[in-house]
Amino acid sequence: MTNNADNNFRDRIVTMNEEGRRNWIYANQPKGKYYTARTIVAIFLMIFLFAAPHIYVNGEPLLLFNILQRKFVLFGVVFWPQDFHLFVIGLITIIVSIVTFTVVYGRIWCGWACPQTIFMEMLFRRIEYWIEGSGDQQRIRDKGEDTFDRIWRMLLKHFIFILISWAITHTMMAYIVGADEVKQYIVSSPGENISVFIAIMVFTGAFYFVFAYFREQVCSLVCPYGRFQGALLDNNTLMVTYDFKRGEARAPMRKGEDRVEAGKGDCVNCGKCVSVCPTGIDIRNGIQLECINCTACMDACDSVMKRYKLPEGLIRITSQNNITKGTSFKWTPRVVAYTALTAALIGALIVLFTLRSSYETTILRVQGSLYQKVDEGLYSNIYNYKIVNKTDNEGDLSIKLVSPDGKVELAGSSLVVKKQEKIQGVFLIKLKEEQLSGSSTKIVLGIYNGDELIETIHTTFVGP
Ligand code: SF4
Ligand code: SF4
Repeated sequence: MTNNADNNFRDRIVTMNEEGRRNWIYANQPKGKYYTARTIVAIFLMIFLFAAPHIYVNGEPLLLFNILQRKFVLFGVVFWPQDFHLFVIGLITIIVSIVTFTVVYGRIWCGWACPQTIFMEMLFRRIEYWIEGSGDQQRIRDKGEDTFDRIWRMLLKHFIFILISWAITHTMMAYIVGADEVKQYIVSSPGENISVFIAIMVFTGAFYFVFAYFREQVCSLVCPYGRFQGALLDNNTLMVTYDFKRGEARAPMRKGEDRVEAGKGDCVNCGKCVSVCPTGIDIRNGIQLECINCTACMDACDSVMKRYKLPEGLIRITSQNNITKGTSFKWTPRVVAYTALTAALIGALIVLFTLRSSYETTILRVQGSLYQKVDEGLYSNIYNYKIVNKTDNEGDLSIKLVSPDGKVELAGSSLVVKKQEKIQGVFLIKLKEEQLSGSSTKIVLGIYNGDELIETIHTTFVGP
């Protein structure tokens, strides 16, 4: 993996010193094509994250995860508890896709798309650079006296951090209870919704703590996906990797020297790759748990290579096997298996989505009820019904007996179900004695929207 004989760096994470205290990371701001690309991706993702609960499709928010009311909306499509299987398969598909993606492309998700990194590196850290200067300037200021200059910058930074944490909390809430409800909370006094107010304060505090203090520790110590990496990555996985064959032996650049003749590699040991790393590691030590594949070190090193007229890509996205054996990407059995599983799950999801019914009806005989003799030779059973309208149109429904011939009597006048709503109630079925086949007769009910048969339900009728 590395030519570095001193593997002490593996004894503890870089953000802890020998006494187990925090080593604060003062990462400098990277500059280069990858950072520009990350910025564009981050702006797009942040706009999406903050705007999604406020965008409505067919009267429904783009995304909603209302656990309290068990209502889920994905891209304007409402999912009811009855669609829970779709939700579970969707979730499994996402997890398997992430695993597949990680096996092949490493932790690109962590560095480029994870909300933690996006907020930390593209919002909170940029505000820090704006107010307190580069990582080096921050280190010098923190080690110095408590001057007025240091204090006002610190206060302003933390004030803005709290405001953003407050905004993130409200956005997360909008994903759960809906944007309109959150607007109500904002305009009403805290006393009217004291539990909501406390929850907002707690979560604002939690986000502030994460982005102001805990930072990269989330990726190294808390995130299960980060901890899971060891099991997913192999020597063929594409990762941000230091080409030690080309880089070693590292040594500073001397004017006019021929580095090949001097037995030196392309790494000029400038430390720029370490100075921009948000997790504080030295990628030249090889693949490490803390590396989130953010590509900041690639930008930093490319700028050094350019300055010394050396080929770029000393640190690049490649696999260990590519560096050590010179082989290119291979479809290993593991990659093939994960890809096939992901494709199968996506296929199953598409089929289930296509077959998803517009209405969902549940009909059950009232618990504990038996038959009733209504008249000579005429018997009745009582049933509960629940109908969910998953469409965006109102449904004027009716329940009819398909077989055998008989009568359905609703306890109520009509079966009008508003869009994306559900109704429930009871009804009677009356059958003549000659239509019964013993103590349990199989019956078929049709649910009609106008004249259109939308669902067929099979149940039983209890007789004498
Ligand atoms: S080593 Fe490079 S890619 Fe990994 S976290 Fe540090 S800067 Fe990002
Ligand atoms: S930035 Fe490049 S040249 Fe400088 S220390 Fe890192 S790997 Fe070596």
